[in-house]
Amino acid sequence: MDYISTRGSAPALDFEGATLAGLASDGGLYVPREWPRFSADEIAAMAGLPYAELAAKIMFPFVEGSLTYDRLLELTRQAYGRFAHKAVTPLKQLDEQQWVLELFHGPTLAFKDVALQLLGLLFEEFLGRSERNLTIVGATSGDTGSAAIDAVAGRAKVDIFMLHPKGRVSDVQRRQMTTVLAPNVHNIAIDGSFDDAQATVKRMFNDHAMTDRFAIGAVNSINWARLMAQVVYYFAAGLQLGAPHRKVAFSVPTGNFGDVFAGYVAAQMGLPVEKLIVATNVNDILHRALAEGDYSQGTVTPTAAPSMDIQVSSNFERLLFDLGGRDGKALAEQMAGFEATKAMQLTNAQREGAAALFSSARTDADEMAQAIRWAWENCGELIDPHTACGLFAARTAGIDASIPVVTLATAHPAKFPDAVERATGQRSGLPARVGDLFEREEKCVELTGDYESIADFVAQHASPKI
Ligand SMILES: *Cc1c(COP(=O)(O)O)cnc(C)c1O
Repeated sequence: MDYISTRGSAPALDFEGATLAGLASDGGLYVPREWPRFSADEIAAMAGLPYAELAAKIMFPFVEGSLTYDRLLELTRQAYGRFAHKAVTPLKQLDEQQWVLELFHGPTLAFKDVALQLLGLLFEEFLGRSERNLTIVGATSGDTGSAAIDAVAGRAKVDIFMLHPKGRVSDVQRRQMTTVLAPNVHNIAIDGSFDDAQATVKRMFNDHAMTDRFAIGAVNSINWARLMAQVVYYFAAGLQLGAPHRKVAFSVPTGNFGDVFAGYVAAQMGLPVEKLIVATNVNDILHRALAEGDYSQGTVTPTAAPSMDIQVSSNFERLLFDLGGRDGKALAEQMAGFEATKAMQLTNAQREGAAALFSSARTDADEMAQAIRWAWENCGELIDPHTACGLFAARTAGIDASIPVVTLATAHPAKFPDAVERATGQRSGLPARVGDLFEREEKCVELTGDYESIADFVAQHASPKI
């Protein structure tokens, strides 16, 4: 399989190249040249497979040419062997129609582990084939940083530098990053906000003094390999609920449009999907885009579901590309317009294509708390505030009663205990596997937000690219 850029002018790359590059050189995002498709018989034959084997079957068409099937299976067994539940992403029934797919059984208690555990192994695999080193630089408001650090800690040829705003991530989130003592992990607490940290990272990607010496890589969901790994659990849930003979709807708590785009890919690959419900909090750019065709950036309002406090959804570009006839030149113009004015209208083709598969809903603070309370009082389940947005959207989407609706549970409730306690009076304890988090030693440097001091620190501690 080879990969092309959504903006049409970067060179096509194989899977290995697209994984190491992250962003395409024309500013676009890599997508497979075509969607692989499974027949109904092929899907039916996957029922009952262990998760790691299902993962290898679903992903093999995307990696062919860069990995053999057997090697891919070894990597999925290693990645998913670290999950605390044997089913990796267990499915739970809430009532006659509503289900939750628990994606938080990985090492850092958020769904990002499902993709990042594999991505860490892919980096190591591909870098091991040459003399290259990779320097990952990222900014985090919490979940991405801990999942990425866990995934690459101790791996050869990779260094990770993760910036977080000092004092503005939760204690659990900070400790999940700073108690990882591997020498290739560098936590940097900066004076300033998440946006300041993010701006520093973007500047480093464009700083030739840095990029000439270091191969700077990305771990956020602009990296195709992350989305690919997320396609698997849509199939896992669909198969358990009767696919390919029965349709399933999914409700997805959404920020950067990565997780729900993986659901779109599953549908393109042959999984019978009734609807993909895009659930946002009050930061509702995607709800406005899907309901009215208006993709315009507002200001970010902080909520109890911080990983969805986003006003630009990078992966939406991948959907617009596919729905717009895969015309890279036209999309490059559309995106240039958005970057200049912070607003754009979807074309008719994009609006109609999206309406065929997607619906959307916006959840405010009261509705979020109501959904947490409903799951606890009616089903005895504690859910986190992100999942609550998904469940609220699922229960109000008007899906035909004969069709099961699966809400993706993206974080463990213990990651956001205060919001859960406010809604239910219950405090969710940390699972035993992370239980000694508060006794472990922390390692973190504190730097001012000043760009030069951060670039100097990275240059002193990273390995040059060759
Ligand atoms: C990252 C994250 C999301 C949003 O996922 P996207 O792929 O960015 O849409 C939702 N919930 C939680 C808990 C997250 O960490």
